[in-house]
Amino acid sequence: MRDKYDLAETRYVCRRCKGLINVPSDGFYWFSSTADPNFWCATCEDLPQADVLGRPADEIPHELQLPKGFILRAVPRVEPQEVHEANLLYRPYSKRSFLSQYMAWVKLSGGLETCDWSAHATVFRRFDSESQSYSECLEYEIGDECAGRPCQFLRAQVLKPPKPEEVTCSAIRLLCDVKGSFGLCQTGDEAMILQCYLLLTGGEHFPMLVPQASILGGKRRPDFVCFVPLTRFQYKWVVVLVDRPGKPASTCAKEDAEYAQSGYSVKRILVDRSNSGTSYFKAARELKLSLGG
Ligand SMILES: [Zn+2]
Ligand SMILES: [Zn+2]
Repeated sequence: MRDKYDLAETRYVCRRCKGLINVPSDGFYWFSSTADPNFWCATCEDLPQADVLGRPADEIPHELQLPKGFILRAVPRVEPQEVHEANLLYRPYSKRSFLSQYMAWVKLSGGLETCDWSAHATVFRRFDSESQSYSECLEYEIGDECAGRPCQFLRAQVLKPPKPEEVTCSAIRLLCDVKGSFGLCQTGDEAMILQCYLLLTGGEHFPMLVPQASILGGKRRPDFVCFVPLTRFQYKWVVVLVDRPGKPASTCAKEDAEYAQSGYSVKRILVDRSNSGTSYFKAARELKLSLGG
């Protein structure tokens, strides 16, 4: 996922063959007309009739209104001297961007128990053993520590459903506590899916599942929204809805259409009441895969 945020190309899909067309670019390139010489569909062996994938990066909302007065910005505000490191650390609506702002909000709202996470980026040149020289491009690595250990919110990549006592990061516990002062999910189902998602996805700039954000001009507050990078210039907007079985298909279709009109694709998660523990974990893992991670 990390590479996608830096990928300097624009992606299109050919309307005829549904094949992907990747155009290397320095800036977001709008498909102008079928006569444009930069476009070619290798499958159709013809000029493509193409649609651009996702939505332009600069259309991502600058901030989202969450419950309890928490306003989440795409990236945290930083001091001018911190801009360089912040550019490496915080990608729009990523887990790290969320965690940093969430903890500041908890602290400001008088929360006593917060995870004492801190992040640092190390920039270096990669050494190429074949040519015995340092490469021209700069690489970076990020450390996320919390109480001297890798922070669970950003670094855990569990392989099986976590037991409650295994969740040690207080940021996860506060966020996923439906009854607590700093819980942002509406139902236990949502909180469990969010917790599994956080523990499954690790670091490397994964997009955050943002709970209960007000979108569509305040008309809708879906269970989660997620902004997934396709390239540096394009993001996929996803709304994630957690349903119990029995929701009428007509209601779902109406919801989906409304979200689609505003550029969101809808991903539905069905929680199986009889086996919810496994169901949450499986759903979160499928979600992670479907987002491209
Ligand atoms: Zn084609
Ligand atoms: Zn932590």
